[in-house]
Amino acid sequence: MISIKHLSKTFHNPDGSVLTVLKDVNCDIEKGEVISIIGPSGTGKSTLLRALNMLEPPTGGEIWLDGENIMSKGYKLDKMRQKMGMVFQSFNLFEHMTVLQNITYVPVQLHKMSEEQARTEAMDLLQKVGLAQKADVYPESLSGGQKQRVAIARALAMHPEVILFDEPTSALDPTMVGEVLSVIRKLASEGMTMLIVTHEMRFARDVSTRIFFMNEGIIYEDGSPKQIFEHPVRSATKAFVNRIQKLVYEIDSDQFDYLQIHTGVNQFCIKYNLADLTDAAYSIIKEMLFEHLKGIRPMTLRLTHAELSGETALDFMVEGLTQSPLPRNEAVESLRSRVKSIVEEPTTRGFRVKIILR
Ligand code: ADP
Ligand code: MG
Repeated sequence: MISIKHLSKTFHNPDGSVLTVLKDVNCDIEKGEVISIIGPSGTGKSTLLRALNMLEPPTGGEIWLDGENIMSKGYKLDKMRQKMGMVFQSFNLFEHMTVLQNITYVPVQLHKMSEEQARTEAMDLLQKVGLAQKADVYPESLSGGQKQRVAIARALAMHPEVILFDEPTSALDPTMVGEVLSVIRKLASEGMTMLIVTHEMRFARDVSTRIFFMNEGIIYEDGSPKQIFEHPVRSATKAFVNRIQKLVYEIDSDQFDYLQIHTGVNQFCIKYNLADLTDAAYSIIKEMLFEHLKGIRPMTLRLTHAELSGETALDFMVEGLTQSPLPRNEAVESLRSRVKSIVEEPTTRGFRVKIILR
């Protein structure tokens, strides 16, 4: 369906600097594939999607869609835009139109669909994304998750052959990520061809037929989710997919700022969609610092979250110890029964008590 050959994009900035973001991108995409594009930020994932539908005209290379090179002179971009829908991080709805008008506008104006048919189809699409009851409201009254579902319905109204999603959940409150991902999952199960730039690693693993890891201006590694997430060939891919997010505090004395820790833990949990763990994490930190590890200072406290496996843990690390600082008593046994597991292990410089929350 799509064939990308030696695609490149160089930006010439007003200050004279030159930045080559896409160096040499090559791939073939078949009908029905669901491809997640992952990679560090700034590696050109958005630029690739924008180059694909000519929002950001590429500097070189070829893009073939259904046997036609859309970069050739004389190719009608409207034709490509009908075939390739796009959903943006920031929704980009028309704020002065109702939800229904947002969906029917382009089909009626540009594609000369009858008002009547456009309406019927739009209502079916709203039903599909669970928003039939919102047809006549304006976008400003919708939540972010609802706006994004409208944006998806609007893209579908063009009967596209492929939809490009650029981080569709990044601008959302964590509580709304799920509703948008489940609409995308549904489209995937219906065989919709999609390219999805996402930071949601577990979603990417579950929903995709293929993963592109972008790095250094190219598709650095391309494979099935199993290959990319479990057996990556290249070391940069491996480092990226096994990335662990960390929050670290040095606890020097008992005068540490526990309010700061509380705020930090709270923000970390919101950011990584772990809000349900916030209270447990904070109360275990207090219990450990003031009871089980009372007086054991200095100590390094870490909250870690492995994005792919989902493992979330609290580490209490003390330098210079050769055995566990954790006492053997009933209170500790009670703690053990409330968490997934507790691992006590020596490190190169001391000892670590790792409390695995999930
Ligand atoms: P990603 O989506 O992977 O985070 P982007 O494609 O947004 O990365 O950006 C890649 C690089 O290109 C960044 O360094 C960004 O600053 C630069 N860039 C993106 N768009 C433009 C533009 N219109 N003009 C100049 N530089 C740009
Ligand atoms: Mg981006």
